[in-house]
Amino acid sequence: MARDQEKGEKKFSTKKCYECFEHMKLDAIECPFCKSRVGSVDRNGIAKKPVDWISYAVFLVALAALALFVWKVFLN
Ligand SMILES: [Zn+2]
Repeated sequence: MARDQEKGEKKFSTKKCYECFEHMKLDAIECPFCKSRVGSVDRNGIAKKPVDWISYAVFLVALAALALFVWKVFLN
């Protein structure tokens, strides 16, 4: 009943940069070759692109400002 080794994902010792496809350490947070921010490894051994929360927040604020602007224009 002990099948905790099998989780459908292979174990990797390195990961590949999604940008330049160079190998790097599995716990690297930045590609040493192209300086891209990298996340955790996916099932293909490629580093995931980390979610950029700051740009996401800036985008939401800009969208809200635009919506407010459009709303005001329609009211007046
Ligand atoms: Zn890279």
